[in-house]
Amino acid sequence: MKIAIEERSWVEIDLTAFQDNLQLLKGYLRPGQSFMQIVKADAYGHGAKEIAEIAIAQGAAYLGVANLEEGKLLRIQGIQAPILILSPSLSTEIKQIIHYDLSLGVADLDFATVLAKAAVKANKTIKIHLNLDTGMHRSGICFEEAMALYDEVSALPGLEIEGVFSHFASAENDSDFSRLQESRFAEFVQALEAAPRFVHLSNSAGLIHGYAAFCNLVRLGISSFGVKTTDEELGLKPVMTFKSTLSQIKEFKAGDSVGYQRQWIAKTSGRYGIVPVGYADGYDFLLSNKAMVLINGCMCPVIGRVSMDMITVDISQIPEARISDEVVLLGKGDEALRAEHIASLYQGSAYELLCQVGRRARRYYRDKAHILHSSPLARRDFVSSDFGDSKLSQIISSALAQRLDSPEIGELIYREILRTFFYNKDRDVHYRKNFRHEIRFDKSDAPAYYRAETTLRYKKVLNADHFVIACAASSDILQGYILRTDVEYRWLLDSDKQFKAENFQLNAVKVNGIDLKTKIKSGDGYLEILCSHPKLQKLINREVEFEINTNTLYPTTSHQFSVFITELTRGVEISFSYPQQLSHVEAVTVFSGQQKNPPIQRADHRIMLKTSEDEWVFPISGVVFCY
Ligand SMILES: *Cc1c(COP(=O)(O)O)cnc(C)c1O
Repeated sequence: MKIAIEERSWVEIDLTAFQDNLQLLKGYLRPGQSFMQIVKADAYGHGAKEIAEIAIAQGAAYLGVANLEEGKLLRIQGIQAPILILSPSLSTEIKQIIHYDLSLGVADLDFATVLAKAAVKANKTIKIHLNLDTGMHRSGICFEEAMALYDEVSALPGLEIEGVFSHFASAENDSDFSRLQESRFAEFVQALEAAPRFVHLSNSAGLIHGYAAFCNLVRLGISSFGVKTTDEELGLKPVMTFKSTLSQIKEFKAGDSVGYQRQWIAKTSGRYGIVPVGYADGYDFLLSNKAMVLINGCMCPVIGRVSMDMITVDISQIPEARISDEVVLLGKGDEALRAEHIASLYQGSAYELLCQVGRRARRYYRDKAHILHSSPLARRDFVSSDFGDSKLSQIISSALAQRLDSPEIGELIYREILRTFFYNKDRDVHYRKNFRHEIRFDKSDAPAYYRAETTLRYKKVLNADHFVIACAASSDILQGYILRTDVEYRWLLDSDKQFKAENFQLNAVKVNGIDLKTKIKSGDGYLEILCSHPKLQKLINREVEFEINTNTLYPTTSHQFSVFITELTRGVEISFSYPQQLSHVEAVTVFSGQQKNPPIQRADHRIMLKTSEDEWVFPISGVVFCY
C-alpha cells in the first residue's frame, strides 16, 4: 500500500538497503562468527524494532541496546531474541532486567553480588557478559584485574557468564592501538579455562579491518546503516533519508542578507526557498552556510543560519522549482548527502547526526518500491505502564472516539462496556477460568420450597487472604455487592421469602482444597459471610481454585432460577438438575463475548450449557432456567 506523505519533513528508512548492507557485511565474517545487531538509541534513529526484526531474519545472534529502557521496549514490542545491555546498569534496574529477560554487561564485583542475590531470589539465572577495558578507558573492568573478577563472578550463584567482551577506542584509524587492545583481550580469553559462549570485540570498523579474528561475535552498528567509518569503498547504502518540502519561494537582490545575524549576503540577484526544518528537527546549527540539499536533481546550498524551524536554500539554478517540491536533506541521492559527508562539514559525528535527525519527523519504512508503514511522531511506542490509571482511561476513551470517528459513540462504549470490566478506575480486572456451576433442585421438607444445592468451581488469581460471600434480599442491596471488590459470590434471595439466615447456608468454601474459616454477619436484608484462612496469605497473586457449595430454599412458585456471569470468564459450564415433578425446564441464555449461543444439552432431568475452554464470556451474560 502506498501512503501519500503529507508531512512537512519526514524520514524514510529503506529496509531493503539495510538488508543489502547486512548481506555485504556478513561477507566479512569469518567461519564460525556471527553478529550482534546494535539497536541502541532506537537503532541510531532508524527504529529499533524494525531494524531488529530484519537483523534477526538475517541471522543476528544477539541484539545490543544501551540500557534497560531500550531492551524493555523491544520486549514489549514482541522481540524474543537475546538482548544485551551494553552500558553499565544500575542496581535499581535489576528487577526489571530480570523481568524482561535481558542480558547485561558486568564489570564490577559489588554490582555482580547484588545481581546474584536478585537472581537467586527470583529463582532465575541471569546471563551476563563480562566487560573488559582493554584501553578505551570508558566502561569495563581494567584488563589486568579482569581475571580476578572473572573468578569471583563465576563463583556467584544465579549468574551465567555467557560472554566476555571489550570495545575498540579507534578501530577506524589507529591500527597500532587496536592491535594492542586485541592482544590484551586475546591474552585474557586464552587464559580462561573454558571460553564462554560469546567472545566479542569488534564493532563495524573492527570487522572491516579484519581485527579480532579469534572472536565468535561481532557487534554491528553504524556500517549496517550504510555509513562508512573507514576509507574503503564497500558499497554500503544509506538506509535513512531525511526529506522535506519547499514551503515558500522568494527572490533576493545583490546586497540582501538572509537570516539571523545577516550571515549570508547576496552577491547577485536570485531565488531562494524556505524549507521547514531547523535544528529543532535535528538539522545541525553548524550546517549554517555549509550544507547542500537536493531539489529536482540539483544540489543547492544552504544560505544563512540554520534557524530553529527553518532553513533557506539558494535555488537560483533551478528556475523550474515550485512550492511543495521535495527537498532531500540527508541520505540517498548524492554522495554529498551521506551522513559521513554532512557530519564532516562541521567536524561532527555521523553517529550523532543519525541519532538526532528527524527528531520531530514521522518515520516511514519502505522497501524498494513501496512505503510499508510509518511510526508515530513521538518516536516512542506506547508503553501502557508509563501511564497512570486515569491517564490510561483517557487514552482508551480518546482512542475509541478516534477509531469510531465519533466522540459520542466512543464515550458511550467506553462508559457502558469498558466500565463493566473496570468498574472504577483503580479496580483491577479480574477474570475467572474453568467456571463450573452445578445447581440441583430437590424436594425439601418445606412444601412451598425446593432445596437448591449449588456447587461453584473456578480458577482465579487470589488477591487477598479473605473474601466475602453475600446474600441480599433485594436487588438494590445486591447492586452494592456487585460493586464491591472483595465479594466473590452473591446470591439474591427471592423477594417473597422472608429474609432469614437459615435460608442461605454455606456448606463449604475452599481455596485449593483448604477449608476456609467463616464468620457470619447479618443485618437488615443482607447476610455476609467472611471467608478466610491464614494459609491464603501465601497464595496471594497466584491462580487458585475456588469451590463454593451452598444450600438454599427456593420457592416453587418462582418458576425461574438465574445464574449471572459477573466477571470476565473463560470456559463456562452451567448445569441445572431438577426433580421428577418438574416435567419441563427451559434455559434462556443471554451471552456476550466470543460465544453468544452456548449449545444446550439435555439429559435425564438435567439441562446443561457449555462454552469451550478457550472462549471468553463477558460479564453481561447469564442464563435463566424456567420451570
Ligand atoms: C555502539 C557500540 C557498537 C557499535 O559500533 P559501530 O561503530 O556503530 O559499529 C559496538 N559495541 C559497543 C559496546 C557499542 O557501544
